Amino acid sequence: MFSGLKLQCNRLLDLFFPRYCAVCDDVLAETEHHLCIRCFMDLPRTELHKTKENVMEKMYWGKIPIEHASAFMYYKEGFKDVVLNLKYRRNHAIGEYFGRLMAEEISESSDFFEGIDAIVPIPLHHSRLRKRGYNQSEYIARGIQAVTKIPIYSDAVVRMVNNKSQTRMFHFERKKNVENIFKCVRPDLLKGNHILLVDDVVTSNATTLSCATAIMQAVGTPLPYAGDTTAIRFSILALAYAGK
Ligand SMILES: [Zn+2]
Repeated sequence: MFSGLKLQCNRLLDLFFPRYCAVCDDVLAETEHHLCIRCFMDLPRTELHKTKENVMEKMYWGKIPIEHASAFMYYKEGFKDVVLNLKYRRNHAIGEYFGRLMAEEISESSDFFEGIDAIVPIPLHHSRLRKRGYNQSEYIARGIQAVTKIPIYSDAVVRMVNNKSQTRMFHFERKKNVENIFKCVRPDLLKGNHILLVDDVVTSNATTLSCATAIMQAVGTPLPYAGDTTAIRFSILALAYAGK
């Protein structure tokens, strides 16, 4: 009886406050959440987690001890609104929704999350955090946590510099743009762990690599990383991959 009542309430709410698909802007049916069924089916999923030695993993080879790297979808024309809604239109709930969705789909079809001890969402600089009101990567991380139960350490790393957006830069500019911008302030929490770094969009390895390097320096892993066995390991997971 209560579920019937809830359904009626949802119908009423949809009537007065229609919800829209984050991709195509169509009005959502009561059973749809954030995306209409057509856009959900059409999401440009990368499926990179199913491929060992994939294009994202290779970006970190020889630089950090990398276990897995993947992104849920390609940052592609027609679907960029998912990220834009999350970052610039205050729709942080979509981050949690996608975090859950990607964690469910990835854990159903791979061992990606096995052995991961901690999730670190890529932090925002405090001034950008104040302006936006939330860290979009943290919402993605919360969705991942809801499925995997892996703890999130949001305060273990801080962003010291409010650097520019990466998307319109050349490769050498991106690298320069993120050098020494992170500081790991709680190495005690991360030492010896297999850490999952979570980002919204990965364009190159620049930001995630800079964050991982700051953690390695803080916990005392020798740099440059020469492929020797060290206790600390990383996996990378992004909502979208914008690389070539
Ligand atoms: Zn749609």
